[in-house]
Amino acid sequence: MQNISNQSLIKKSSFINGQWLSSEQTFDVFNPATEESIASVCEVDSFQLEQAITSAFNALTIWQDLSEATRAEKLNCWQNLMREYADDLARLLTLEQGKPIEEAKGEILHAANYVKLYSKHTEGLNKPSKVDAVSGQNGQVFRRPIGVVTAITPWNFPCAMVLRKAAAAMAAGCTVVLKPSELTPLSALALAQLSIDAGIPAGVFNLVVGSNAQAIGEILTQHPKVAKFSFTGSTKIGKKLLQQCASGVKRTSMELGGNAPFIVFEDADLEQAVDGAIASKFRNGGQTCVTANRFLIHENIVQEFTSRLITKTKNLNIGDGLDASSDLGPLINSAAINKMDQLIDRALADGAELVHGGKQNTQKESAQKKGFYFQPRVLQNITSEMEIFNKEIFGPIVSITTFENELEAIQLANQTELGLCGYLYTEDPQRIATIAAKLQIGMLGINESRLSNPAAPFGGVKQSGMGREGGHYGIDEYLDYQYVCVKE
Ligand code: NAP
Repeated sequence: MQNISNQSLIKKSSFINGQWLSSEQTFDVFNPATEESIASVCEVDSFQLEQAITSAFNALTIWQDLSEATRAEKLNCWQNLMREYADDLARLLTLEQGKPIEEAKGEILHAANYVKLYSKHTEGLNKPSKVDAVSGQNGQVFRRPIGVVTAITPWNFPCAMVLRKAAAAMAAGCTVVLKPSELTPLSALALAQLSIDAGIPAGVFNLVVGSNAQAIGEILTQHPKVAKFSFTGSTKIGKKLLQQCASGVKRTSMELGGNAPFIVFEDADLEQAVDGAIASKFRNGGQTCVTANRFLIHENIVQEFTSRLITKTKNLNIGDGLDASSDLGPLINSAAINKMDQLIDRALADGAELVHGGKQNTQKESAQKKGFYFQPRVLQNITSEMEIFNKEIFGPIVSITTFENELEAIQLANQTELGLCGYLYTEDPQRIATIAAKLQIGMLGINESRLSNPAAPFGGVKQSGMGREGGHYGIDEYLDYQYVCVKE
């Protein structure tokens, strides 16, 4: 932490109405690479939570009374500051989350791109559009900011997930109260400091930090002053929060879990497919919602694909994310390691074959150091009945299933309640068109494993959620339509 050049970015309490509010109770934030505490952060209390929502409510008028250009200027200044302090923000992110420093820097710049994009989307938002005339009437449709937005975000992208919501909401003219994950609150708090430096008025962007997610969530989803609740996290918790929102008929956006198929046909460029597989599976140690979760490989090429994949997996450097030579950092905590161990044990018991990596997680013992390191594994002979096929793995395990033909590939890919994204490797344009239309997913990469683009609609179908983030689709989530009909 002492190597962070701008020490004002290190904050350890909730940020409410432009103030840092401390409290008696604290919780610790740990570095997953060392298992050491890096900060003690003040728990938000119920009084402060009420203050946060009230200040967001009161700031609505202040924020909406600013011209579109002024709001845009402040958002633009915010993202410029993020770029100026990108190295500090990346270091902080790696310290609390574990991902390699280059990936962390990539996340900061990606998040800044969202803010930049949304600073441009403020323009013209207040301009009404005309609807077809009814005789004797003049009808116009206005887009109005929905009001106070509350949000909860996960630990795997502690900066990007915060801004993908907050920047869109703020550009729309809404104010925000957001709870980041207790595992990674420091990145979000640093963003709050930069929001002050950017001149964003007090009360527009508030952060509440605490370890009692359930209690905080109950207020954020049910408070009468809240108009909209936006969540990124697991499907299990998303469902619970949706129920909580129902009693107040809150607008909601849900960015939930994934179970992405990564389909490779026999006509694919195999080297490209293997590179895509490595990038998708091992970015952030496989702890991303869009990671390839089920490798569906045509039976004629499975041996060659697996052998090349193992060769490249062996070349990955596992280590502290702060070390620039690390390709793979630690997992987030010991619970994540236990989950991986259990998934592997049960898959092996059900008949899977381990073709790379030992049965036990040897990474930690061999390195003889602390940290939640997990050795990547490759499993084959996975069938669609197995738990590992049906569950979001969220870690560096490659799970391989074979298929015979297009129909079987599509059936396997769709055999899940989740539908966030998928990947397809083939050189056949006809096959691309057929399969793209039949996959039940919100996003598809064709011969491409990087899907994220601030201008594109990010989100899933089925139980992967509802609503979209990114582009104008993201800002629409924070606007209500108002029809105004004037008698001529
Ligand atoms: P999670 O357990 O659902 O937690 C997400 C957030 O919800 C955290 O801030 C967590 O707080 C909070 N939370 C947990 N229990 C809660 C409760 N009862 N009431 C209110 N809030 C509660 O998910 P995670 O393990 O952090 O994140 C991984 C999941 O997020 C994966 O399923 C992944 O696919 C999904 N994800 C989806 C997207 C997307 O865009 N679709 C992006 C990233 C991640 P604490 O951490 O403080 O406990």
